[in-house]
Amino acid sequence: MPVPALLERLEALDVDAAGRSALGLVESLYPILRSITGDGVRATLAAVREGLELNGNDAWITHEVPSGDRALDWEVPPEWNVREAWVRGPGGDKVIDLAEHGLHLLSYSEPFRGRVSRQELDEHLHSLPEQPDRIPYRTSYYARRWGFCLTHRQRQALPEGEYEVCIDSTLDEAGSLTYGELFLPGADPREVLLSTHVCHPQLCNDNLSGVAVLAEVAAVLAKLQRAQRRFSYRLLFVPGTIGAICWLARNPDCSGRVAHGLVAANLGDRGGFHYKRSRREAPIDRAVRCAFAALDQPLEIEPFSPFGYDERQYCSPGFDLPVGSLTRTPWGRYPEYHTSGDDLDFVSAASLGRSVQAYLAVLAALEADRSYRNLSPYGEPQLGRRGLYGSLGGASSGREREQALLWMLNQSDGGRSLLDVAERSGIAFTDLAHAAAALEEAQLLRAGDRGPAAGAAGMAPRTHG
Ligand code: ZN
Repeated sequence: MPVPALLERLEALDVDAAGRSALGLVESLYPILRSITGDGVRATLAAVREGLELNGNDAWITHEVPSGDRALDWEVPPEWNVREAWVRGPGGDKVIDLAEHGLHLLSYSEPFRGRVSRQELDEHLHSLPEQPDRIPYRTSYYARRWGFCLTHRQRQALPEGEYEVCIDSTLDEAGSLTYGELFLPGADPREVLLSTHVCHPQLCNDNLSGVAVLAEVAAVLAKLQRAQRRFSYRLLFVPGTIGAICWLARNPDCSGRVAHGLVAANLGDRGGFHYKRSRREAPIDRAVRCAFAALDQPLEIEPFSPFGYDERQYCSPGFDLPVGSLTRTPWGRYPEYHTSGDDLDFVSAASLGRSVQAYLAVLAALEADRSYRNLSPYGEPQLGRRGLYGSLGGASSGREREQALLWMLNQSDGGRSLLDVAERSGIAFTDLAHAAAALEEAQLLRAGDRGPAAGAAGMAPRTHG
């Protein structure tokens, strides 16, 4: 069979254009006030959906989960929306106004209208003394309160006197939680799960970069026909924690379906890539390593830990999905994290473009990872006679291409997969995939049945090709 269609898309990717497109989406979503429920999430999902051109069997569903519904050990909270929120000072001017910045209101603030003293107001204020010019991001989803976030300088400049507070918000018990799910079926029903959270207001790296990168990845996957995708792909755009929990509650059989997965976030900053491994030794971990080796990009690999983003839920022991998290600078390790400093200047088109490329490379590595059998294993077959020397596609030099051919022939005894060969030889999986396709075409190799898909829990390996 030819090289995976996704590998061809990766090699043809215009990284700069992908980065500009992702940044365009970040810019358009930036002003929207989001939280774990409400119209901001709906508007965000509508924008992502609008950018996708789907084929016959591809499906986007915007789910609404009613407030009050049980989801595993949780309950879906009332839906939160805000019309306006501000504080007027003793002089009558608005001294804090949600219309000026989406971080000014404590997310999920209950409605409040009244007059308070400077001292009373202060009990409802949040600021960062160590970063006095940045507004912090604070939430109170499950404890009813109200509050405002502001720069520490702003806070210190508030005079004594009486303040007028208006929070025109609603907490609707008859509302719902919204999440988006895109399903792109492939030749194999086993799924690759890609997930990002969609609940942060006016913050770019965490989390609009994850939304935008997955939207670009989705657009590339959606351009392939079903038969061109080896795996099925499921992309989740969910409110953090409670959204992933709702999806898991509604998909109790996911352990048998999800063969590989990644949680996306923090993909637009200028830092290097980090990969947090899945809870169990999973093929996704090596696919990420092999993808970065092929891209010749540095990657820091970290062990699994039960905090971070929604990998916490997917990797909870009852589900134990083979899901890792691929980011640039991890959460909490940059001062702009969860502050107004995580703005449009903090992310770049170049970083976003490289992140799209990295995700596609990981998926291409999964698609390419098959085992092969050498059909002419007694001595080296004569490659020159078959026109195989110097005729191979891919970006590497002729010498590397020859080495890729020889490694694939030597290691293909039906037991080792393409990524095994990549790790043992140090040759890019992309070069090996081209070599395998050429050798199959010359009837020197035959695709076998072992690949990374054997990692799916409770699923027997299937025959491919
Ligand atoms: Zn966050």
